[in-house]
Amino acid sequence: MTIRLVLLGRQGSGKGTQGARLAVHYGIAHISTGEMLRNAIKHDSPVGRVVKDVIDQGRLVADDLIASLVKGRLGEADARTKGYLLDGFPRTLPQAHAMDEIARARPVNIVVDLEVPREVVMARLSARLAAEGRADDSPAAVEQRLALYEQQTAPLIAHYRRQGTLAVVDGLGTPDEVFARLVSVITSTTGVQGAGGDGKASR
Ligand code: AMP
Repeated sequence: MTIRLVLLGRQGSGKGTQGARLAVHYGIAHISTGEMLRNAIKHDSPVGRVVKDVIDQGRLVADDLIASLVKGRLGEADARTKGYLLDGFPRTLPQAHAMDEIARARPVNIVVDLEVPREVVMARLSARLAAEGRADDSPAAVEQRLALYEQQTAPLIAHYRRQGTLAVVDGLGTPDEVFARLVSVITSTTGVQGAGGDGKASR
């Protein structure tokens, strides 16, 4: 079986870090829409120019723009043959419906909600602002991003629960503890063992 996974979680839930480790562990493509957009901005591409202000303010990029970027990326060879982990998409119900359509032939087989309370992610994001200086980690942008998560992304949890693909994982604890929990749920749901190690940069 090929893993096609959607990882949901608030900004600062550890989704990016865990997503990268899981992708190495299972040998699948790690597709982060936030990273794709930040790269587009870095290279000053046409997409980058359209999205820069939206991202800096912590707002969401238009559904059809992001859906077409994801559709293109999922059509690439690695995602088709090895499977993938989607991090940061879908983020709204229209995007979830677009994703159902994009993946119609080969549907997503597991959606993981990495659950970390709002107060905890606020503290983590202010630490990340100090360390990385991302404009969208400023207090105003973080407020905005978390509010959008509650309004737009939280309803996806019900969508995927209805589809029967949802698994909720507790995101509190050390990164290693959370990783072990994720692997245990993903392996038991998909039957895929994963042999690629834990994805830590030091190994
Ligand atoms: P992230 O790294 O996932 O937090 O994404 C950073 C920013 O990119 C978000 O705050 C949005 O402005 C934009 N973005 C990323 N993914 C999406 C998406 N699926 N829909 C709309 N905007 C997105």
